[in-house]
Amino acid sequence: MTYSIEYHISALFVTLFIVFDFFLRKDMRKTINKGFMFLVLSHLTSTLFVIGTTISNNNIGAYSLGFRDFVNHGFLISHNSSAYVFALYTMFLMGYNKKRTPGYFAAFTVPLAVTLFLLLLNPWQRWVFYYDQGGIYSHGKAIYVLYLNALFYLLYSAAITIRLRKTLSKSKFFALLIFLGVSTVPVVIQMLFPHINIEIFLQSLGILGVLWTIENKAEVFNTITQIYNRFAFVQDATLSLNNKVPFEIITIKLSDVSYFISTLGLDHMQSVTVEMAAWFNGLAHQVDAYDCEKGHFCLVNFSNSTVSSEELISIIKKRFSQEWICADTHVTFPVEISMLGVPQQVDSIEQIMLLVDMPYRSRQFTAEVISTDILSLHQREIKVTQAIEEALKEQAFSVYYQPIWDRQAKRFTQAEALIRLFHDDMGPIPPDEFIPIAERNGSIIGIGDFVFTQVCSLLQKNDLKKQGISSVAINLSVVQCMNQRLVENFEKAIDYYKVDPANIKLEITESVTADNPAVLLSTMEKLQALGFTFALDDYGTGYSNVSHILNMPFQIIKLDKSIIWGAVQSTSAEIMLKSTIAMMREMGLKTVAEGVETQEQKELLTFLECDYLQGYFLAQPMNQEDFLDYCGKYSNIRLS
Ligand code: C2E
Ligand code: CA
Repeated sequence: MTYSIEYHISALFVTLFIVFDFFLRKDMRKTINKGFMFLVLSHLTSTLFVIGTTISNNNIGAYSLGFRDFVNHGFLISHNSSAYVFALYTMFLMGYNKKRTPGYFAAFTVPLAVTLFLLLLNPWQRWVFYYDQGGIYSHGKAIYVLYLNALFYLLYSAAITIRLRKTLSKSKFFALLIFLGVSTVPVVIQMLFPHINIEIFLQSLGILGVLWTIENKAEVFNTITQIYNRFAFVQDATLSLNNKVPFEIITIKLSDVSYFISTLGLDHMQSVTVEMAAWFNGLAHQVDAYDCEKGHFCLVNFSNSTVSSEELISIIKKRFSQEWICADTHVTFPVEISMLGVPQQVDSIEQIMLLVDMPYRSRQFTAEVISTDILSLHQREIKVTQAIEEALKEQAFSVYYQPIWDRQAKRFTQAEALIRLFHDDMGPIPPDEFIPIAERNGSIIGIGDFVFTQVCSLLQKNDLKKQGISSVAINLSVVQCMNQRLVENFEKAIDYYKVDPANIKLEITESVTADNPAVLLSTMEKLQALGFTFALDDYGTGYSNVSHILNMPFQIIKLDKSIIWGAVQSTSAEIMLKSTIAMMREMGLKTVAEGVETQEQKELLTFLECDYLQGYFLAQPMNQEDFLDYCGKYSNIRLS
C-alpha cells in the first residue's frame, strides 16, 4: 500500500503557520496558553514524524529499518500524546482542572500510559506494528488500543465541552466542537480505511480554528496596556464562578484619571498607565492582572497561589506611596485598593462587575475588605446618576440662595447660590451626595452651566443692588476649574444676559488650589480679566497652604464650618480662629464665616471682626422667589 503524502505536507504548512502566529503573540503567559503551546508543539512533532513514516514506508529500500522503526514509533508516541494534551487543554480551558485530585489526574493518564507502555515494548513484542517478510509496515492487534486511546481522550474532551458549555462563548464552544469533530471522525476513518491519511491535516485545521477563536489575543488583551482586558476578566471570573473555584479579586483604582489626563496630557498618562500595568503583571507569577478600563485594575488570586492577597496589597500600597516618573515629572497617583472574596462576599459576575466599576471614592489609601453593603451604596449611586441625567434633560434642578450677613453694614449684602435636586421617588438628594457623582461622570459641567445661567438670569431680571445685594457667589467644582471651555462658556453667558461679572463671585475650594495650582491660576487670571472675583471656599479643611493663596487672586476667604464650631468649644481653637481672621486681614483679604448656627457663634465672630457671616442662624438657603422677598424686606433695615 502506498501512503499519500500531500495531506501531510499541507498539514505541516498549516501547523508551521500556527506556530509562527502563536509565537508572534506577546505575553501569553497563562497556563492555558502554555497548554495550547504544548498542543501545537506535539502536533508539529507528529506532523514531522508522519511525513518521515510516509516517505520511508513508501520507499522501504531507500531507508534502513532502524530509521523506519524510529519514525514509526516517534509518530505513534507523539500522535497519541497529542490527544492526551488536547484533553488536558480542554480541561484547563473550562477550569475543570481546578477541583480535580491527583488521583483523578492519575486515572486520567492511564490510557496514555498503557499506550506508551505498548509502544515502548513494541520493538521487542511487535504487538502494535511490525514489518512483514517484505519489510512492509503492518498493524498488529494492539493498534486498536491506540485508536481507543485517541477516541477516549477526544470523547472525554467532547463530554466536558458539552457539559460545561455555559462557561464558553458560543463561538468558542463551536470552535472546540469543530476541532473535536475534525479529530474524531478521521480516527474512525483511519481505523476503517488506513490508507486515507487526512487525520493530521484535519487536526491542523481544527487547531487553527482554536487559535483564531479561543486563543484570540486581540480579544483578551488591552491594546494600550498590553495586559488582559475587561473582557478577559469577565470571562475568567465567570469560568471560576461556574466551576465553584474560590478566588480573591484585588481592585486598584486610580483617582481622577480625567484630571491627570488634563494636566499630564493623554500621551504621558497613557505611558505611565502602561508602566503600571506591566508592574501589576509582573507582581506574582500565578496572579493575573487585568486592565478593567477607566484606571481600574484587577488582580485575580487563587487560594493555591504562593502569595497572599494581603501581601500583594501591602506591596501595591508601598509602590503607590512612591512616585511614578511621567514626562520627567515625578507624580504620585492616589489609589483605592480593595479586596473581594468570591464567592464568600459576592457570587455573581454582575455583582463583581458592579464593584469593579464602582468609581474611586476616597482620597486615602484603603485596603479594607469590601462588604456587600457597598453594593446597595453603588445601586443608590446608579439611581442618583440617573436622577442627575433626567434633571439635566428636564431642567429639573433648582438654585437656592443663602443670604450672607455683612458685619459692618449689619445687613445681608451677598448671597451664595446652592444647587438643589428633588427626585419624585428619592426625595431631596443633597448636593454633597450628587456633586461628587457628577464630578466623576462629567455631568458637573452641565450642572455648573445651569447654575451659572440661572444666576445670570436672576441678575438680569432683578436689580439686586436695590435690594442691598451686591454680589452672588457661585461654587465651582474641580472639574469645572480644569475645563478648558469654562472661560469661553462664562463669557458667552455674561454677554447673552448682559450681566456685569463684578456682581458674581466664584467660590473655589481649597483642595483644588492644592491639586494643580498652575492650571487653576491660568483659568483664574482669564476669568479675572473678564471682571469676576474669587472666594476661597472651605478654608481650614486640611489643604492649607497660605503661599498658594497669596499667589492667587482671591479676595475673600470662607472659613469652614468646622473652624467656627470648634472656636466656641475650645480656647485654643478660638485663638486659631482669631489669628486666622487677623492674618487674612493683614493680607488684605476679607473673611466669611460659614455654618453660623447660634447666637454665641455670631457674637464671637462679631467680636473677632469677621467680615461676613453665613449660616442657618442668620438665613437658610431659599428658593429664588423667597430670596427676593427676603432681600426686599431686609434691604433697608440694619439689624443688630
Ligand atoms: P459649601 O460650598 O460649603 O456650601 C455651604 C453649605 O453649607 C451648603 O450646603 C449650605 O446649605 C450649608 N449651610 C449653610 N449654613 C449652614 C449652617 O448654619 N449649618 C450647616 N450645618 N450647614 C449650613 P449644601 O447646599 O448642602 O451644599 C453642600 C455643598 O455642595 C456645598 O458646600 C458645595 O460644595 C456643593 N455645592 C452646592 N451647590 C453647588 C453648585 O452649584 N456647584 C458646585 N460645584 N457645588 C455646589
Ligand atoms: Ca461654597
